[in-house]
Amino acid sequence: MLAVEVKNLGFRYEDRHVALRDITLAIGEGESVGLIGPNGAGKSTFLLHLNGILPEDAKGEAAVWIYGVPVIKPHLPRIRRDVGLLFQDPEDQLFCPTIFEDVAFGPRQFGLGEKDVEGLVREALAKVDLQGFERRSPHHLSSGEKQRVCLAGLLACRPRILALDEPTRGLDPRGKRLLKTLLRTIEATKIIATHDLELVAELCTRAVVMDEGTIAADGPALTILADEVLMLKHGLEKPHILRHSHPH
Ligand code: ADP
Repeated sequence: MLAVEVKNLGFRYEDRHVALRDITLAIGEGESVGLIGPNGAGKSTFLLHLNGILPEDAKGEAAVWIYGVPVIKPHLPRIRRDVGLLFQDPEDQLFCPTIFEDVAFGPRQFGLGEKDVEGLVREALAKVDLQGFERRSPHHLSSGEKQRVCLAGLLACRPRILALDEPTRGLDPRGKRLLKTLLRTIEATKIIATHDLELVAELCTRAVVMDEGTIAADGPALTILADEVLMLKHGLEKPHILRHSHPH
């Protein structure tokens, strides 16, 4: 079953800057896709289209489908339940006075009882190793901890698709390891925009290279990452852990 289907998606920002050009892509349920490419390639812009944060085109026609449902305004509540989007900057996602309130925000939208909400929050905080942080303010945490609170907020909603924008940014090595272990245990379809190519090598089965708003390559993660010519052409480099491997 297709989790995500994107057909001829183009997008320009208000200043007329073209950020996406004619993107066509299908992602199956359970796939783990690394979205890589230089700064400004359009990765974040692409992720923002998956749950309709950026609008459909002026004619109101969909270019993105989530489990067959077109991403257009009337479907957004359902789409946003299916797609959990982790923003690049955790500051954009944290707005409540306590961590409990922040993580509970999503599940509360689903009309669950307070006991169920509490259970989901506790479970999600345990997953990101922030047990006991419920009453603290998210604004006084380190950037890595903030990132984990945001992730807990997504996990508490149990989305079928996780779209993560630079999830390892700001994490120390231990935080990165923890995140990788956690992501491995989560069964959701994952789309991870990142500069962390080791993360892609370890976690993703497929890599999509974006550059200048288009898809430059799409294939098995290890094949793509090991292709030095391709990687260099798009401002990337073969990750260290693949340095000694010869795929051919
Ligand atoms: P990436 O995530 O790959 O770094 P982005 O999706 O952030 O790429 O950006 C794609 C292009 O769109 C870049 O050229 C960037 O400058 C531009 N862009 C991003 N956000 C905005 C915005 N809010 N307004 C105008 N241009 C933007």
